[in-house]
Amino acid sequence: MSNEMRVVVISGAGSGIGQATAVHFARSNFCVIGCDLSQSGLEETARKIGTGNFHARVVNVSRENEVGELFEFVKSLKLPLHAVIPCAGVARTGLAHDLSREEWEFTLGVNLTGTWLMAKYSMPIFMTQKGGAFVAVGSDASVRGASGYAAYCASKHGVLGLVRCLALDYGPLGIRSNAVCPGFVQTPMMDSLFAEAIDPEAEMKSYAKEVPLGRFALPVEVAKVIFHLASDEANYTNGIVYSLDGGATAGHFG
Ligand code: NAD
Repeated sequence: MSNEMRVVVISGAGSGIGQATAVHFARSNFCVIGCDLSQSGLEETARKIGTGNFHARVVNVSRENEVGELFEFVKSLKLPLHAVIPCAGVARTGLAHDLSREEWEFTLGVNLTGTWLMAKYSMPIFMTQKGGAFVAVGSDASVRGASGYAAYCASKHGVLGLVRCLALDYGPLGIRSNAVCPGFVQTPMMDSLFAEAIDPEAEMKSYAKEVPLGRFALPVEVAKVIFHLASDEANYTNGIVYSLDGGATAGHFG
């Protein structure tokens, strides 16, 4: 393999899993383009990376023109594109009849449309260079229902459907598409979801009890799996669902 610097594009790079993934790739000598809605989040990521090769871009992944411009920037670097990791996400709770149309469309717009737009603008680059890896971030809510999470769950099931189609349509061109599906991960998103409970501490304990490994994941544990799936070590993976949930979706537990 050549020693040429390779590019990785990560959305949601200003917090949680996306931030940990950006730090992990940057420390492994990749040129990381991290995008997020949050300028301050991106600045924090840049501080954590220190002297690594990091380009921060404020992008709303649900806006096509902004994602298109992001990938024009990627092309302008004239470096091989190693991987694209759509990690930006939002979680809104609510039963189907309680959700407003805005909440529904907002959730699908970021989680599903955002992932599709990242694919739409990266696949032509991967096709030109005849290879690349797309690693989407799904959820355990991609593979099973989640009570009270109708919009989130629908969006994350959609991500899996999209990834499977990408695997079929672009696999023959040497482009691999896979999905990592974490259970709860200790990030600001998780904290804000538990903060909605009457007794957040008790709620957290009760969810942790459903995990055979007895705890929630750390962002860096997800980052390492994403790194692996994007790497040549995982050259034969395509269209897989990598459950990363301590065994929570393996079956009934407890
Ligand atoms: P987080 O809230 O810590 O980080 C999400 C980031 O996405 C934030 O920096 C936010 O600013 C950014 N973002 C939101 N909307 C955006 C938009 N329109 N455009 C660009 N950036 C936007 O959350 P996290 O826990 O790190 O979640 C990352 C991904 O992992 C999400 O897709 C989430 O659904 C998924 N996930 C999280 C958990 C969990 O328990 N934390 C579990 C399973 C899956």
